[in-house]
Amino acid sequence: MTDIIRYMKNRDPYEKEFHQAVEEVFETVQPVLDRYPDYRQAAILERLIEPERVIQFRVSWMDDEGQVHVNRGYRIQMNSSIGPYKGGLRFHPSVNLSILKFLAFEQVFKNALTTLPMGGGKGGSDFDPKGRSDDEIMRFCQSFMIELFRHIGPNTDVPAGDIGVGAREIGYLFGMYKKLRNEFSGVLTGKSLGWGGSLIRPEATGYGNVYFASEMLATRDEPLKGKTCLVSGSGNVAQFTVEKLIDLGAKVLTLSDSSGYIFDEEGIDKGKLEFIKRLKNIRRGRIREYVDKYSEAVYTEADSSLDYNPLWSHRADCAFPSATQNEISEKDAYKLINNSVKLVSEGANMPSTPEAIKIFLDKNILYAPGKASNAGGVAVSGLEMAQNSMRISWPKEEVDSRLKGIMKSIHKTCLDASAEYGTPGNYMAGANIAGFVKVVNAMIDQGLV
Ligand code: NDP
Repeated sequence: MTDIIRYMKNRDPYEKEFHQAVEEVFETVQPVLDRYPDYRQAAILERLIEPERVIQFRVSWMDDEGQVHVNRGYRIQMNSSIGPYKGGLRFHPSVNLSILKFLAFEQVFKNALTTLPMGGGKGGSDFDPKGRSDDEIMRFCQSFMIELFRHIGPNTDVPAGDIGVGAREIGYLFGMYKKLRNEFSGVLTGKSLGWGGSLIRPEATGYGNVYFASEMLATRDEPLKGKTCLVSGSGNVAQFTVEKLIDLGAKVLTLSDSSGYIFDEEGIDKGKLEFIKRLKNIRRGRIREYVDKYSEAVYTEADSSLDYNPLWSHRADCAFPSATQNEISEKDAYKLINNSVKLVSEGANMPSTPEAIKIFLDKNILYAPGKASNAGGVAVSGLEMAQNSMRISWPKEEVDSRLKGIMKSIHKTCLDASAEYGTPGNYMAGANIAGFVKVVNAMIDQGLV
């Protein structure tokens, strides 16, 4: 195992996020490799870490003052052994090859866990949408799609949203794809309801995470009702995590953005959540404005000189990191444990550092890795693809009940795989093993391609 990790690091020494994601998976699948020595002969690990295709392109666009800007666009087509590439597009200044490869790698196993026929991919740009007008966003999305369109399609690669890419961006991207191809197809998911989107898709990642957390609590005969919760982020995933937590009787104390976080001891209720949705999705404002409206809450500015995030220092029962990768450090993990947190269910992708995960596992709290607990988003994207190809639209209740069923089944799959391979109750090992076995068997069935 150390050989393959060394090989990967020597080949691409600067891709630290990608290394982190690969090391986590490969360490936990060792018992599978021991059981099936044929995998080595087939160079399965080497094949898994080499994307099937990496596309990098120039995106030139003009701002409202007539100034031209140049960004980098990417699409990582990681693995198509169980279906067309599927995974979001991220627009954020931090985007680079390492981050997108880590996200694409995670996506391969996550998609396998959903039981739907989707391979794994990811893409995006280092474009920063913050402070840009609608027209600038539109021009950027159009320029991005002018290159991407030739590499994607409903049976090839179906992108969706991620950080910085929501319904507005999907609309502009779809419009340009349609014009270039002269076809109206299910090439993107996360579309608006009036033109091919699925009910419950915006809610799916957050709702799915809460459904997963409820399943985990049930294994310890604990209800979600009455639990106090810390949630980070205030975008798509965070908003609908809070909504479902409130629906199920939990109390949410925090939300954040990259500038800072709010702590509301009285709890964020439905009215306050509506304010946040308008603030973030329509006015595109900052979370600090929450305390101007609700004076009972306290705002704390982010401080990048700290090696911990004070959001995780509050006393609570559960934590739902829903902002970005590596947002829970080792120090944060100790603070969570010392403040009686019994469950961490990841809405974001890889929000916990390897040191933090080790602490969660050592302390035997309920810990769900994002590739299991946030799989509800891509699962409903898969349902959107199915509805698009049948040209029908399922009612809200049907999609929600399918989502619930899928989250329940992922939970069981993780538990069963963890028990079968000697680490009962370790959701991280279970998710990695179950996803890995499904993908690898498909690769072997399809020969050396
Ligand atoms: P959004 O863009 O809607 O929201 C992201 C939120 O996280 C914002 O509040 C943003 O603050 C904050 N954030 C982003 N980057 C940073 C950073 N470097 N430091 C601190 N805060 C940050 O994205 P989503 O809600 O869609 O995605 C959140 C996470 O969930 C990501 O890890 C994503 O990969 C994952 N995910 C999303 C899915 C989906 O369906 N959307 C599916 C599965 C996983 P600010 O506005 O200041 O940037």
